[in-house]
Amino acid sequence: MDSKSSPVEMFFFPFVGGGHQLPLIDMARMFAAHGAISTIITTPKHALSFQNSILRDQQSGRPISIQTLQLPEGVDIVDTNLSATIMTDTSMFQEPLKNLLFQARPDCIVHDFAHLWAADAIDSLGIGIPRIVFSGFGCFSDCVQQNLFKFQPYEKVSSDYEPFVVPDLPDRIEFTRSQLPIFLINDGGQKAMHRFDKRYFGSVVNSFYELESAYAEYMKELGNKAWLVGPVSLCNRDVADKVERGQKVSIDEQSILEWLDSKEPHSVLYISFGSVGWLPPEQLLEIAYALEASGHSFIWVVGKSFKSEGENEENWLPSGFEERMEESKIGIIIRGWAPQLLILEHSAVGGFLTHCGWNSTLEGVSAGVPMITWPLSAEQFSNEKLIADVLKIGIKVGSMKWREPRDTIPGEAVGREKVEAAVRRLMEESEEAAEIRRKAKELAEKAKQAVEDGGSSYKNAEALIQELKARRRPETRASDQ
Ligand code: UDP
Repeated sequence: MDSKSSPVEMFFFPFVGGGHQLPLIDMARMFAAHGAISTIITTPKHALSFQNSILRDQQSGRPISIQTLQLPEGVDIVDTNLSATIMTDTSMFQEPLKNLLFQARPDCIVHDFAHLWAADAIDSLGIGIPRIVFSGFGCFSDCVQQNLFKFQPYEKVSSDYEPFVVPDLPDRIEFTRSQLPIFLINDGGQKAMHRFDKRYFGSVVNSFYELESAYAEYMKELGNKAWLVGPVSLCNRDVADKVERGQKVSIDEQSILEWLDSKEPHSVLYISFGSVGWLPPEQLLEIAYALEASGHSFIWVVGKSFKSEGENEENWLPSGFEERMEESKIGIIIRGWAPQLLILEHSAVGGFLTHCGWNSTLEGVSAGVPMITWPLSAEQFSNEKLIADVLKIGIKVGSMKWREPRDTIPGEAVGREKVEAAVRRLMEESEEAAEIRRKAKELAEKAKQAVEDGGSSYKNAEALIQELKARRRPETRASDQ
């Protein structure tokens, strides 16, 4: 077959957990829908959580498969519960990955930058496989981070809570030092900037041009080559894909859909802090009081982690709370994993109290659901500013302090009054709430158009495929020989 016309072979090497793994799997599926031969590289254990979706894609004729790596005897990733953080060491993948690439010589490899060793390891092969980096962030927070560490404005304030402006951005974006990760300040952003190593072929971004066009352009000005191809979660069109995304859901999806069907449009608040977000019992208690006082219906996802810490539920739920919520059908608590895409897309959901993880942010945007922003860690404070200050599709609860993802040391809780006020402000009728809702719906339309044939993300995916084809030399691909 002509080397320019045969489909491109793209390898995807997702990180081992959290909000990093899910979007790169979705992205591989999306590129397969564009005709690229997509291979997801992972371990047999990690494959379990997404192999059914891949099987369904294969059955519908998509060129996608999973390639598992054999790790050396006795070696494993410490954390395989989809809750690994960027600090999780994955360097045991190095040799098996290099061997695989050397044999297979795909047209490119898309790797998560959180495999901090991968860039050097892949380049060291010297076989010219284009490396495409996936950071899991949007353009806005990439630009914020680049300028934060270029200009270091946080050095010029006298306290952790004195606001400063991030210089040279398209909008006036204010931060406080308290909202930045300490380790990033200490190493001058070296770890975060690792992904802009400039030896890469470019980066793929889970975002769409219409969402943050000024920042997509600004990225170009900064010299970063990027293809915006999202929101990739929109590739999950079947209920089965939405329900089986990530971990096993902790609730029967039929019962939750029936409960949602019984509610008025836009009347339910969905609350989730992502795959690793952990809140101390004191904070959960404040949320519970606020929810009950607001009187609004809710679905509240409480991760399993604090239970495994041996916490007694009485410590964080007001007495009889759950029984009252169940009896009055006002609220549902999900302990563990929720079918987030399914819930957000239901017309009864009118608000999303979110920790502003980038996937959750985009999923809220795609579903047209206004947000209450409650960032905790990672780049979530940047995402909050995009949601609330730039796009104006959400309001801030007033979270001020960055914390380690699994920090069990109680910080200062956001009080119940603040939480209740934010819930009422978003969920009750007002001109402000109506305007936020209107903007959110408008963006959701644009998100859907972006991934449809002819949309900006669709075209970007095609452009990347064409660029990979164009750079092919006949001898570079084993399968063309
Ligand atoms: N998620 C889910 N059910 C849950 C919790 C999370 O489906 O109960 C999914 C969510 O839809 C999103 C991802 O997990 O795709 C979380 O990614 P995000 O970037 O929002 O946050 P992180 O977990 O990385 O902090």
